[in-house]
Amino acid sequence: MTATTVDGVAVVTDEPTPAPMRDNAGTPVLWKQTRTLTLADGRTVYGCAHCDYTSPNVHSVRPHLNKHRGDRVPAVPNVGALGALTLDDVVARLAEHDQLAAERDEWKIRAQRAEWSLSTLRTALRGVA
Ligand SMILES: [Zn+2]
Repeated sequence: MTATTVDGVAVVTDEPTPAPMRDNAGTPVLWKQTRTLTLADGRTVYGCAHCDYTSPNVHSVRPHLNKHRGDRVPAVPNVGALGALTLDDVVARLAEHDQLAAERDEWKIRAQRAEWSLSTLRTALRGVA
């Protein structure tokens, strides 16, 4: 949670920080995760919305926020049946696919040889009949 004291001085107000930009509608943008903290002694510092990190420099808070990115479980896009597979499963299936493709190529060669042999036999039998 956001700091409630800084260097032993109580935080009096905790507000979102106005960003130096406006949105498409021209409305000022507020950085909700970067808190503007007014202290009991009149100082203003900037704090993190997620922990007790504070800094007198507003530009220090945004890089700090990256530390909290790993806290959330990343959203997994819905990719149908593949969504339930782990990377190990996918690698195993690719190896299985490669094996099947190699076997298919081998059988294809054998089938073509058998067709050629059958064709040769038919030609030979035509001569006898
Ligand atoms: Zn933090």
